[in-house]
This record gives sequence, C-alpha cells and structure tokens, in this order.
Amino acid sequence: MYAIKDDLRSELDEIEAAGLTKTERLITTPQSAHIATAAGEALNFCANNYLGLANHPDVVAAARDALDEWGFGMASVRFICGTQTQHRELEEAIADLVGTEDSILFPSCFDANGGIFEVLLGPEDVIISDALNHASIIDGVRLSKAQRRRYANRDMDDLRTQLEEARAGGARRILVVTDGAFSMDGYLAPLAEICDLAEEHGALVMVDDSHATGFVGEHGRGSHEACGVMDRVDIVTGTLGKALGGGSGGFVAGPREVVDLLKQRARPYLFSNAVAPSVVAGSLKAVHIARGSDKLRQVLRRNAALFRGLMTDAGFELLPGEHAIVPVMFPGEEGARQATQVADRMLELGIYVIAFSYPVVPKGQARIRVQLSAAHSEEDVRACVDAFVQAREEVAPR
Ligand SMILES: *Cc1c(COP(=O)(O)O)cnc(C)c1O
Repeated sequence: MYAIKDDLRSELDEIEAAGLTKTERLITTPQSAHIATAAGEALNFCANNYLGLANHPDVVAAARDALDEWGFGMASVRFICGTQTQHRELEEAIADLVGTEDSILFPSCFDANGGIFEVLLGPEDVIISDALNHASIIDGVRLSKAQRRRYANRDMDDLRTQLEEARAGGARRILVVTDGAFSMDGYLAPLAEICDLAEEHGALVMVDDSHATGFVGEHGRGSHEACGVMDRVDIVTGTLGKALGGGSGGFVAGPREVVDLLKQRARPYLFSNAVAPSVVAGSLKAVHIARGSDKLRQVLRRNAALFRGLMTDAGFELLPGEHAIVPVMFPGEEGARQATQVADRMLELGIYVIAFSYPVVPKGQARIRVQLSAAHSEEDVRACVDAFVQAREEVAPR
C-alpha cells in the first residue's frame, strides 16, 4: 500500500505542478443565484441552473411532499421492484417535452450514454461522433463493439466524408451522434444539416441535449426544436441534473422500440438503483414547469441578451450565439493566466465564475465561461458585468 501511496502522491504532485488541480469550493447554502462559501456571499454564474429550478419553491415542495408519500429510497433496480407509478409518469412527461414516443430513465445521463450504444450497435455498425462530444458519449461508444469514426467539431464536410466511407465499408446501421449544445462554446450543433446528411446516407441521428432540454428552442423542447428538426432526430439523451431541477437522473427519449429494448438490455438501467422518489417528484414538477410556460425561458433569454450586450459594449470578446453559456475570451499567450486572475478577483468581488484553459479548451483560447440563469435579476447581471470590468482593469489594464 505504501508504494502505491507514494506513486499516487507523485502523480498528484505532477497535476499540481502543471496547475491543473481541481479543488472543490464548499458552498454553505442551497444552489441558487445567490450562494455563500466560507469566503463570503457570491452571485453564482457557473451553475447549470438555467431555469432557476434547482431551488424553485414548487420543485422543493414537490420533493418534500414525496418523502411522505413515496418514502426515501427504492432499494431496487427498476425491473425488480424499483418502479413507482411516478417513475413512469416522469418518463412520459420527458417524452412529451422532447417530442418522442417514449423515454427511459437512467441514474444519470452519463449512464444513459454509457448504456445505449452497445445495445443498438454491433461490430457490423458504425458510430460517427463529433470530436467535441461529451466524455460520457466517448465512453459509451468505447463500450460498444461498433466501428468508430470521428468528425471535426460541427464540420459538415468531414461528416459527409465519414458517412460516405462508412456506407462504402458496407455498414449495417450508421448512427451520427452529437451534443445538441457544446458546453465550452455555447454553440448549437447544426442539426438541420446533420439530419440532411444522415437521411442522404441512411443514418440515424442521436443528440445529447443535456445543455438544451427545457430551455433551448422556443418552447424549451431542445436543440432539435431550435433547429426546426424535431421530427427528424431519432434519439435524444439528456439529464435531469441541469435545467430540469438539477437533481439527478438522465434519460434516453426516442422510438418505443428503442426504449423497450433498452429496458431489456441497457446495463446501467438493469444493474443500478432506480432514481430516488423525491428526486423523481421534484424532477416531474420541473418538467411540468418547463413544459407549461415560456416565462422562465423569457427571463433567461433576457438575461443572456443583456449580458452579451453589456459585455460587448464594455469591449470584451465573446463567442457569438444566443445560448445561456457565454464564453468570455482571453486569447493569446497571456490569456490563461489573465482568465484565472480575473476569475479569482471576481470571486473576491462577489461574482463566482470559472476560467477554463488548455487542455480543457484549445491552446490560446482561454476563457471565462459565464452561465446565465432565470434566477438572476437584471441587477445581478449588471453586477457581473461591473465585476468583469473592474477585474480586467486591475489584472490586465488596457
Ligand atoms: C452534463 C452532461 C452529461 C452528464 O449528465 P449527468 O446526468 O450529470 O450524468 C452528459 N452529457 C452532456 C453533454 C452533459 O453536458
């Protein structure tokens, strides 16, 4: 044991020396726009709490009531004795939101992506995956026996080439898989073009909409709604851990046969505990709120537009778009250091944002990723911009 402890310690030291150690900041409040850490109070601009449902009174009340009505735990996988009527209700509500025949819950979206590929695709099939897809897609693809191809991020010429080569290679099934919204850029996948190319080559399309379900698209149905291809995307995976209450759980939504087969074969579904009753009830309330009204989405859009406008006026370089993920760029050699120093200073000023640099994003493209929420007030957004301006002035005067 001592030998391995020494080995692991030197590995940890290498991570530290490279400046890549991730530390957890301990939060002493519920997740919200306004939080507190030991260092003091802060406005939170780095949660995936897009609709502000993580601490929404109706969601909290639904989860609390469920403890009395449905108990604390399931102590079973779904197919033995772990399915309450509300689990099915939630699956139907998700399918309705996303616009598919049915859906199936998983313990997380990581597990949904981990379980789906090996069930649907074998050695005679090909998966074509965007190069910037989420780690859980990469791992899920690895767990399948299908042949693998990658295309450069959102590069439709490259996707065409990969599709042509897969067809020429005699593939049985071809599946194109992409994140609906890419988390480091806030860019949407070009789903209309992807669906065109997939149709042309007889391929299926799967979208991981974890950073879109509930808030992207006019009625929050996802990136396929935003791109006008709701009826052309075959399979959607997503999470309950972001906009939809931020509790936990993931799903696959799609044709009934896909869902039915996953219930027979998907290993994270068969061999991992059912989502806890209070989480199901809170998530169900969150889905109903997201489906029932555009109000929170309008607030979120107003906040994102206000932030993008004020920051552009203040001379910051942003990646373009409308997503609630807004990358504030710190390009060049000094960028990584500047982004980190600006983010650190902003926390002292009471604004919690995170800097990302290589290897999480490409070299020379360091950024502070700001995530807006419907829980932010206009005043909160203005405070964030003011802190950016002040911190830049102190760290990297222009
Ligand atoms: C967050 C995220 C996941 C993981 O979701 P969990 O439910 O937290 O496991 C998967 N895919 C993408 C694209 C994500 O952003």
